[in-house]
Amino acid sequence: MKKLSVYIHIPFCVRKCFYCDFLSAAATEETKQQYVDKLIEEIEREAENYREYEVVSVFFGGGTPSVLKTEDTERIMRVLRGNFTIVQSAEITSEVNPKTADFAKLKAYHEMGFNRLSIGMQSTDDRELRALGRIHDYQDFLDVFEAARRAGFQNLNVDIMSALPGQSVKSYEKTLEKVLQLQPEHISAYSLIIEEGTPFYEWFGEEENQRQRTGECVQLPNEEEERRMYELTEKMLEKKGYHRYEISNYAKEGYACRHNQAYWTRQDYVGFGIGAASLIENRRFQNKSDLNQYLAGEVEKEEQIQLTKKECMEEFMFLGLRLTKGVEKEQFFEQFSLPLEQVYGDVLKKQESLGLLVNGEKNVYLTKKGLDVSNLVMAEFLLDE
Ligand code: SF4
Repeated sequence: MKKLSVYIHIPFCVRKCFYCDFLSAAATEETKQQYVDKLIEEIEREAENYREYEVVSVFFGGGTPSVLKTEDTERIMRVLRGNFTIVQSAEITSEVNPKTADFAKLKAYHEMGFNRLSIGMQSTDDRELRALGRIHDYQDFLDVFEAARRAGFQNLNVDIMSALPGQSVKSYEKTLEKVLQLQPEHISAYSLIIEEGTPFYEWFGEEENQRQRTGECVQLPNEEEERRMYELTEKMLEKKGYHRYEISNYAKEGYACRHNQAYWTRQDYVGFGIGAASLIENRRFQNKSDLNQYLAGEVEKEEQIQLTKKECMEEFMFLGLRLTKGVEKEQFFEQFSLPLEQVYGDVLKKQESLGLLVNGEKNVYLTKKGLDVSNLVMAEFLLDE
């Protein structure tokens, strides 16, 4: 059977964090329930297109999936199990915001088959959390982490962020130290990006917009501090046995996130809920992002795109090179019936001579220096028309 990953989008949060441009918003209990009803209808309707697939990973993301009532999460899980073949060993993850879950909820998650949680902590410093507009403090995170362990979860991810307003290299180091003491199986470490359309963009996005908000710690770290935080991440995590397997993701042996790896290696995935994207046999499509339309039963997809061979090759490289093991030459040949060197020989030579990439016997991967400037290296893999 063919393999499939399933993504479930829950577009609700208690309130919006100041930096967030994800498709999410606060909503009433009634809206959330209606959304779950429509989500279930969508899953039941679409499932017949995936009869020849078995599901190897499920990921509830958002938004804040844990903002749903437990019985609603259970309804979604039940309909997934009833309509898809989910393999016994499937990785089933839910994102969790520390303020929206307790032991009873997590225990119920574990019982309904979730075996991995991704907890959005971001920082252990309450001032930094407030500056981000997070709804939880560090103690809330500690409580939920402990509750997750007690509920039986043996695969936990913790999200952390660097380059935050008011953050110093010292305070970031503290965050890393404290997370490491807890020994989660997986750590995602992202650098804050100031996205257009967010309050942070108004405050920090453009030079002329930048202003101090009185009484708040809103200075962004400078470039040098940012670089030191970035370097500290790899140094401290690797020292404690976390392998950097992707630009921003670290895991103990055997705990790399299978769901995300499916994205990066371009395996088939289907997304349900507003804005959810899918890739099925090189066809990309996405649900519309309008919540009201979705609730009204208007479920048209955005334009579907059948990727050309050239686009598939580009994606293969962009996404695969995010992984520290890089891309496999044999897989490239299997998918495109062309040797990688024949398509990208000149780029490989150039990037290798700059010390940014290794062209090994079986794999092509970025060096540490290449990972540091990965966007620039990947841009080189765009093909001419
Ligand atoms: S909890 Fe996550 S999805 Fe929700 S607003 Fe904050 S960053 Fe965005």
